[in-house]
Amino acid sequence: MENSCQPSEMLFSSQYGSVYQCRQCAHLQIEFGNLIIGYTLEAFRLFSGLINHIDLEDEDLYHAHLHRPIVVQPVCSTGFYCFSRQEIRDLRDLLTGALTMLDLDHYLTQHHFKNQTP
Ligand SMILES: [Zn+2]
Repeated sequence: MENSCQPSEMLFSSQYGSVYQCRQCAHLQIEFGNLIIGYTLEAFRLFSGLINHIDLEDEDLYHAHLHRPIVVQPVCSTGFYCFSRQEIRDLRDLLTGALTMLDLDHYLTQHHFKNQTP
């Protein structure tokens, strides 16, 4: 997300977070707990795929860290995010919901259901 971006349109909300989209450049902002992450649509899809592929039943994950054992290396970054199982479930709902809204929006625009004067 560009520095000038404003999180102008909320796409979806979950228990812990929300996803916003900039009206100017269509970049996405994830606000989740105390994280604020800006992504292009492509990177957002990659991140969503990453979160969806975490095996929450894998007990080996829980040897890494006591409280927030699930470590994710985000797209285009050398840092790491740490999540609990519950947070990952909520983040999945959030990202999936936001992508559904984006796809729906794309569909409606393609089929001229949007942006038409009545
Ligand atoms: Zn922008």
